[in-house]
Amino acid sequence: MAKFRCICGHVINLSSVDGKYHWAMVPNDTVEDIGVELEEGGIRTAEDFYEKFDKAANRIYKCPECMRMYVETAPEVWDTFERVSR
Ligand SMILES: [Zn+2]
Repeated sequence: MAKFRCICGHVINLSSVDGKYHWAMVPNDTVEDIGVELEEGGIRTAEDFYEKFDKAANRIYKCPECMRMYVETAPEVWDTFERVSR
């Protein structure tokens, strides 16, 4: 069971993370390409759609305690973004 320890110390269990803290980031060009494929019939099922979407997406986890965001930029490589209040 994969777990992830945030810089703040909170442990995020990746296999049961609340959906509101697990996001996906997809480049806008890819979203448009997927839309074109949908219109042209190249994507016929929801499974096809999710396969294309997941292949292009960067996984993002947000710590529910400190709101830091972790973006997977390569397999098992995570960039961290910290909330800055002004
Ligand atoms: Zn945290």
